[in-house]
Amino acid sequence: MTEIVPGVYQLKVPIPNNPLENTNVYLIRGDGGHALIDAGWNDDIALQSLHDQLAEIGVTFRDISQILVTHAHHDHYGLAGRIRELSGATVALHEIDRDFLTPQYSSFDEYLNRMEQWFRSNGVPEIELPASRMFATMRRAGATVLPDVTLTDGDSIPVGDFHLQVVWTPGHSPGHICFYERKRKLLFVGDHVLSVITPNISLQPLATNNPLADFIGSLGKVRPMDVTLALPAHEQLIENLPGRIDEIIEHHEVRNQEILTALKDEPMTAFDIAGHITWMPEFGGVHFNDLASPDRRMAVSETLAHLEAMRVNDRVVRTDRKEILYYQYA
Ligand SMILES: [Zn+2]
Ligand SMILES: [Zn+2]
Repeated sequence: MTEIVPGVYQLKVPIPNNPLENTNVYLIRGDGGHALIDAGWNDDIALQSLHDQLAEIGVTFRDISQILVTHAHHDHYGLAGRIRELSGATVALHEIDRDFLTPQYSSFDEYLNRMEQWFRSNGVPEIELPASRMFATMRRAGATVLPDVTLTDGDSIPVGDFHLQVVWTPGHSPGHICFYERKRKLLFVGDHVLSVITPNISLQPLATNNPLADFIGSLGKVRPMDVTLALPAHEQLIENLPGRIDEIIEHHEVRNQEILTALKDEPMTAFDIAGHITWMPEFGGVHFNDLASPDRRMAVSETLAHLEAMRVNDRVVRTDRKEILYYQYA
């Protein structure tokens, strides 16, 4: 637990068996009740760790009146329900990510079947599909409660002397939000901008949107903001936010070029293209076949996010051959 600026504390909450290691949860002190930004992974060890770190500064769960969550991913939203039970705090989330927590299909089995079909149509072989089912099931288990409060762009949330402005930054998730403290020039960026890894931007199964285009737009939205310190939900604090944003944009352009190079000769499925990309370049690069199965699933979804963004810009075209989708150089 570290005090970043007076009244703002960073708590490192462990994520079990995950290379990210921690979620950075922030506590903001307020006279009428403290606020947490993000909650952490739904796990006993994480909850205990949060409890112990709060105790270091004499705070108990009962002192927390608001849980403000940047997006509905498991490592941020997972613990929100249990902390709410212990504290009586309200849980707040952007309205679009709230909608993702509400079942959109008549049954979860129907959802799983349609998701498998979606992966199949993008060239994913049968042997890879059980991992997707497992991932989706795990994800559902993380979403235990619905928020009490839904947030939209521009909302202002008072926490004692702090005023947090909601900045909607779709991309990493469709309802991702950052919180801006104008007076102190702080931006709580969640997973929108991270110091080392490039935030995962994936086309979600069955979605028809364009998350990479949204993401680049959202980077452009926060880049000109007057920020002296960005506080991300993983890894280190970011002092040069515009500089880091430029690096991330550059990374995506490099990846676009890799994809276009792979597509030079013949039409390919997203799965095949993912096999031609160097993954995790931040860590020296890993071949697709050496990724763990859930990471291959994410790699295909990330490749699709790039392909769909380039399709809108007429850089690639997509054709449907016997229910399998192929992309090619435009
Ligand atoms: Zn996330
Ligand atoms: Zn995260």
